[in-house]
Amino acid sequence: MLITHDTRCALDTVVDLVNTAPEDESASDGLADVAALEDFVRSHKMSDVGVLSEFDLSAVRRIRGRFAGIFAAADSRSAAGMINELVAAAGTTPRLTDHDGYDWHVHYFAPGASVADHLAADCGMALAFFVVAGEQERLRRCEAPDCRRAFVDLSRNRSRRYCDSRTCGNRLHVAAYRARRKESAG
Ligand SMILES: [Zn+2]
Ligand SMILES: [Zn+2]
Repeated sequence: MLITHDTRCALDTVVDLVNTAPEDESASDGLADVAALEDFVRSHKMSDVGVLSEFDLSAVRRIRGRFAGIFAAADSRSAAGMINELVAAAGTTPRLTDHDGYDWHVHYFAPGASVADHLAADCGMALAFFVVAGEQERLRRCEAPDCRRAFVDLSRNRSRRYCDSRTCGNRLHVAAYRARRKESAG
C-alpha cells in the first residue's frame, strides 16, 4: 500500500501516543503532565495546536486508551467500529494543505479542534486507510511477553512480531538459545 508522508507522520504519532501509556501500575505515565503533552505536540510537529490545559491532558489520555484498543483489535470489523466512533466523536473537516513545504495532503481535524480531537481525527483516518487497504493486521502489539508496545508492521510480508527487533526480538532469541542449550546439556 502507498503510505504518504503525512500518513507516515500520523502513524508515528499514534504509535508514540499509545506507547506513552504506563505498562503497569509501577511504571510512570509518558504523559504525566501538561508539559509532557506540550513536548509530545512539539516533537510530533502537530500543526495548529493552541495553549494546552489539564482538560486537554485528560482528553488525550482518554483518546490514547481508545487507540490502544484499535491496536489490540482482533479483526478489521472491530477495528472499523472503534475507528468510526473515534472519528465521528472528533468531527472532521477534510481540507487540502501544503503547509511547511510538504506536498498537497489532506488534514482531517476541524479548524480550532482541541488537541485530542486533532489526534482522533487525523490519526483515526490514518488507521482507517489501513482497514480500507485490507492491512488492519499490520497494526500490532509487540509479542514479547513483557512488552506489548504498539507498532505498525511495514515489512513487505507482514512478518514483524516485535516492536523493535534490536531489543525485544533479540532478547527473545537469546532466551530461546539459552533454553535450547539448557535442554541439550540436561
Ligand atoms: Zn500536514
Ligand atoms: Zn517490544
